[in-house]
Amino acid sequence: MKKKNQSRSITGKRILYIVVIFVTLGLCAIGLFYSEHSKVKNRVSVSSATAAENGTAEIPTDTDTSGKIPIQVQQQYFLNKLPAQYWLVGFPTDYHDLQEKLIAKGEELTRKCEEALQKFRDLSPQAKEIASTFPKLGNAFFNGVTTVQLTTSLTGLRASQTQLQVCWTPQFWHNRMPASMYYERAFHAVLACGFDWPELALQSVFLHEAGHALCHHQNEMSAFAPPGSDLYIDEEIVMHELEALAVNQATSGKYFALVSEIAARADDWKQAISSIILDDLKKLDELYQAQGASQEVADLISSQLIIIVGFKSVEKQIPTNDASTLQNAKREVYRQITSQYS
Ligand SMILES: [Zn+2]
Repeated sequence: MKKKNQSRSITGKRILYIVVIFVTLGLCAIGLFYSEHSKVKNRVSVSSATAAENGTAEIPTDTDTSGKIPIQVQQQYFLNKLPAQYWLVGFPTDYHDLQEKLIAKGEELTRKCEEALQKFRDLSPQAKEIASTFPKLGNAFFNGVTTVQLTTSLTGLRASQTQLQVCWTPQFWHNRMPASMYYERAFHAVLACGFDWPELALQSVFLHEAGHALCHHQNEMSAFAPPGSDLYIDEEIVMHELEALAVNQATSGKYFALVSEIAARADDWKQAISSIILDDLKKLDELYQAQGASQEVADLISSQLIIIVGFKSVEKQIPTNDASTLQNAKREVYRQITSQYS
């Protein structure tokens, strides 16, 4: 009996050991799965955040919506968007019949950019300087090598009298564009994808880029600073905040109301941006009148929102009289959003 009992107890122990081993293995497997899963999420976040920074929207493949990481919400948001439709497929003069029409379309959008600088001139002393430095803009097109100013027979006189050009890039250059719109020092031009832009997105992002053009024009050290350096980021902070002021003015304060509402949800800036839900981005679309906008535009405006929520969130935590701590915190927000999230 004793022996039997002993044997039974040994068998029982064995079973117990086996169960413990299986449970341990199972827990390890679950742990590994979640850690891999979160790595994938982070990688997706990073790529999407990079897209945010450089403006090239990636079509999301991960449709996991269980978390509230903004990138996941951005993915959901992108799912209802289509890739941008270009009105400019190639260089205008390659399309003899359409040439005038294409140049006129570029001209029309360039005038909207010009109008933006005047419309937003009272937002800050810098906005005023941008508007007075660049009262007229050149309408140019990218031919794969350089920018070429082209004008229709009606607008011909305007060419070459400008200090800053808006250069529309054709579809064939899409994958070579580091961003849907960016300032290119070498050409003294703001390069912009030749696709359809909702007016407010076009005008507010253009104001941001024209701000970089002004810094270059004035030989500011920040205009030549290496990407990622404090000086470089300080210029970006100014431009993102200027862009936000423009959107806020155009929406009669509704943009900052949305930003404040999101920032109020948490003390920590990362938690605040993680609280962004699809409804917030739908509101954002309404504010920009961008419901039918492309993934590329959606990426730009949602990434801008994430950055501004981050800034607003650290502003709440740090007293405004502690300017250098606040600036450092904003640099950190920008760095993390553009290098990890973005
Ligand atoms: Zn910028």
